[in-house]
Amino acid sequence: MSGHLSETQMKFIFALRSNGVIDSQVLSAMESVDRRPFVRGHFENRSYEDIPLPINCGQTISQPSVVGLMTQALQVESRSKVLEIGTGSGYQTAILSRLARRVYSVDRHRRLVTEAQNIFHHLQIFNVTFLFSDGTLGLPNQAPFDRIIITAAAEDPPTPLLAQLKTGGVMVLPVGQSNIIQNLIRIEKQPIGLKYTEIRPVRFVPLLEGLASDSE
Ligand code: SAH
Repeated sequence: MSGHLSETQMKFIFALRSNGVIDSQVLSAMESVDRRPFVRGHFENRSYEDIPLPINCGQTISQPSVVGLMTQALQVESRSKVLEIGTGSGYQTAILSRLARRVYSVDRHRRLVTEAQNIFHHLQIFNVTFLFSDGTLGLPNQAPFDRIIITAAAEDPPTPLLAQLKTGGVMVLPVGQSNIIQNLIRIEKQPIGLKYTEIRPVRFVPLLEGLASDSE
């Protein structure tokens, strides 16, 4: 996507802006990543609408404006090493790959990991490592991280992930007691203690412990 924006692209960017995505680096990263390859199938023709859509394994590709708000809150820098829990379609991952030095993305569904790997191979994106594992445990071998983003909802931020965040680092995730009431929050790890900021209410699939079986 370059040169003149099509009407569809202009509407897409307008939806992001009107939902509070104003960071110019985030907007240009999102302009440069076509959402369509990450949607595919029945809903491909709705790729540029600001709505979540179903993907394989009973999961969802997030709403673009929520992806934008999460990325904006994460304040990724060009030297950042980022951990993403919940690869899903890989759409959020692709946007992070434009902004960060290196991204590690984890999902508990083997099939989603393989599909994302294939898309990234095709798009020739090389600064992302995908892993089939339980993200609630983080990635101790690669820790610590400058930024951690969780794209599934937990009751509380998982303790291993807080431990794997650098001092000065930022974590963004949805938290909530139920599937209906969740809040997107930003956590900054300070020299002493954690600083919490609420961003907005959201609705995500749950963060589940353990690996999914291949039939799930
Ligand atoms: N940002 C993604 C959202 C995917 S939905 C997108 O826009 O496509 C959330 C994903 O979190 C699902 O793929 C689900 O399998 C994954 N997930 C849930 N619990 C997990 C866990 N413990 N470890 C890793 N991934 C998990």
